[in-house]
Amino acid sequence: MPDYEPLQEEHKWQDYWAGEKLFAFKPGKKIFSIDSPPPFTSGTLHMGHVIGAVWMDFAARYKRMRGFNVLLPQGFDCHGLPTELRVEKESKIPRSDREKFRAACEEWTTQAIAKMRVQYDRLGYSTDWAHSYETRSPEYKKLVQLSLLKFFEMGRVYREKHPVLWCWKCATALAKSEVGHVEKHSKLYHLKFAVEGGSITIATTRPEMIFACAGIFVHPGDSRYKKLVGKKARVPLAERDVPIMADEKVDPAFGTGAVYVCTFGDETDVKWQRERSLPVVIAIEENGRMSKAAGKFAGAKLEDARKLVAEELQAKGVLVKAEDIVHNVLSHTERPSCLAPIEFLPQFQWFIKLRDVMRDVVRDAGGMKWFPAGLKIRLVDWAEGLDWDWIISRQRIYGTPIPFWHCEKCGAVVPAKPEQLPVDTTTAKPPGACLKCKGRLVGTSDVCDCWVDSSVTPLVISKWLGDKKFFAAVYPNTLRQQGYEIIRTWAFYTILRCSLLTGKPPFKEVLLNGLVAGEDGRKMSKSYGNVVAPEAVLDKEGADSLRQWALMAGLGEDYPYSSKEIVYSSKFQKKYWNAARFAFQFVKEIPKKPKKMRIADKWVLHRLNSVINEATAALEKYEFAHALTPIRVFFWHDFCDNYLEMVKERLYKGSGDEAAAARYCLWRVLRDCSLLLAPFVPHVTEAVYQEFLKKFQKEKSVHLMAWPGADELEIDKSMDAVGEKLKAVIAAVRKFKTESQMAQNAELAGLTVYGADNKEIRDAEADLRETLKVRSVDFKAGTGKIAVLDFSVDVVK
Ligand SMILES: [Zn+2]
Ligand SMILES: [Zn+2]
Repeated sequence: MPDYEPLQEEHKWQDYWAGEKLFAFKPGKKIFSIDSPPPFTSGTLHMGHVIGAVWMDFAARYKRMRGFNVLLPQGFDCHGLPTELRVEKESKIPRSDREKFRAACEEWTTQAIAKMRVQYDRLGYSTDWAHSYETRSPEYKKLVQLSLLKFFEMGRVYREKHPVLWCWKCATALAKSEVGHVEKHSKLYHLKFAVEGGSITIATTRPEMIFACAGIFVHPGDSRYKKLVGKKARVPLAERDVPIMADEKVDPAFGTGAVYVCTFGDETDVKWQRERSLPVVIAIEENGRMSKAAGKFAGAKLEDARKLVAEELQAKGVLVKAEDIVHNVLSHTERPSCLAPIEFLPQFQWFIKLRDVMRDVVRDAGGMKWFPAGLKIRLVDWAEGLDWDWIISRQRIYGTPIPFWHCEKCGAVVPAKPEQLPVDTTTAKPPGACLKCKGRLVGTSDVCDCWVDSSVTPLVISKWLGDKKFFAAVYPNTLRQQGYEIIRTWAFYTILRCSLLTGKPPFKEVLLNGLVAGEDGRKMSKSYGNVVAPEAVLDKEGADSLRQWALMAGLGEDYPYSSKEIVYSSKFQKKYWNAARFAFQFVKEIPKKPKKMRIADKWVLHRLNSVINEATAALEKYEFAHALTPIRVFFWHDFCDNYLEMVKERLYKGSGDEAAAARYCLWRVLRDCSLLLAPFVPHVTEAVYQEFLKKFQKEKSVHLMAWPGADELEIDKSMDAVGEKLKAVIAAVRKFKTESQMAQNAELAGLTVYGADNKEIRDAEADLRETLKVRSVDFKAGTGKIAVLDFSVDVVK
């Protein structure tokens, strides 16, 4: 075969592996199972997905070579707001037509999954598609709902009116993990309230909330307001009296040192309402408009209302001043395309009680091995700081329905029967009437938050409650791979749910990748123009180059895309192919190890075995880059650049032990490096295996071979120094030839190596002579003209 052509070869081997069912999971002893993240079905994998997929595929291939039966299932997370928004926009079917709308979402998702599967296959991803799952399937929904019924039995599910984090733009309640603070320019309004015998001026960024004002707070130590605490203030526009109270949470240095509490303007308001049992006035509707409580401003959009109310307050002489400020606003940060400010609305939502088991989550996480270890603290901090229960309901359509009814009269919750699952309580028949008060049962149109779907993946891939034997063999899973940015969601909820349901933590090891940045180091984003789609690399350099780039990323570290790394990777695999093609001209059968070897041979075998040890130790810790780097350096620079040059003469002209030793080393390096490289670059190693190695082996694929072990007897640490000296002399003479305008294969009359302690180099006399085409090599004490490391040489033309 001529040069290696990745684009032709990769397809061929992917088809071969699929045809031979090479990666089918065979349950048995020594199972290694991987709980892989199901990507949201957007229709395309991005570079972040590529890193995760390549890492998991690496782990799978490596563990197979180490004798494990590997379960690598790939699922898809189908439900989500982005699908609904896209379907709404593209199909024009209104959400109110729930059935039709859901069907359109299904169709969109089917197409998206088909496209994404092709992408996985093109990466050489060795998943067993027979174990794939989709969160939208009836079986999946059934399992999710069943887990909720079990949580209900444990007394953990409840329905309650509660101020929830509400995004009016997306029209849904959000979990705490979906919101964050965004710095915004805003105004701080100073508003004067009348108090018996005087006034008090409060400062607020939200004058439109004045209609929901329930009181005024000052700091207990603030002497300016001491006399006012306990008195009543008159709320302008609303024309109600509210109490003036003292609380430590007020910052006397902010604004006027007096603030008003509105139900609900922000997180502190939610706390104050609860602590002081303040009346609740709802000034904002779910759709982001002012409510009836806002009087003549009812119906106004939030952003308009602020301006209109401020104008009215100014006209009435209430507005003392408005100053520009920059402050942090709680926003819908999980969707960068939304970022709307979050409101707190009391709403009926479904909750899971979890604060009482936080210690268990921390303990379970502590029992797992984290790679890198330092990121475990993110989960521990999150669990320890959590003071909210989990809101599991979302006001959407395309999702797993919440499997409960509630009583219209008394609010009691009634679960579906297990045999009804999967159930949609808006259409299914309720199980009779309320047991407590005989009231009518009402279904819920709410669906589960997508983390409710995805945080049972270890149970799904282990066939929980479906196949006892399989579950016992596969659960807990061995490895969970994911991005560090979803530790407080996916990792947290999975550990919580699975531990509560099974009594055992869901996995033993957690492997974390970072975010992919653009080539310029900035976040990959359309607006920066630095987005690189995986196809851009796959169509040009192929999967093995993209895989090498992905495997050079550090654990848990953000990592930029690098075209330089792709080019290097592409050159490396061509170098590997060419070296194999050269070597196997000489290796016609498995060579026996000859008794006598040259220094060059001993050196290359020592280096090979050292690299096997170094790579294996790194890979046991998933430190892919710390394995790939020494393998590439050894193969390219020690083996190709130096060793092959040292043995050419012996291979072409030599005979007997001398040539046999060279052939033996070629065989060893090519075979073992093919095995070391197989999980990194599965396509080119398969091509080399099939073309050159297979005739000496039993296995039909390189991916069925065992991981190589080092021959400790061949390791001789003194060879490192010898190798460095040899390489340095060779480099010096090559440089001399170039400077003297001689061809590299031109003959030299003589080479003298100076220095007392060059015994090993003396032994390498023949290697030097043949490599450098020198008629005679001498060794002397003293100093020559060309300095090499800590000694010197002379060259005679
Ligand atoms: Zn939103
Ligand atoms: Zn009832």
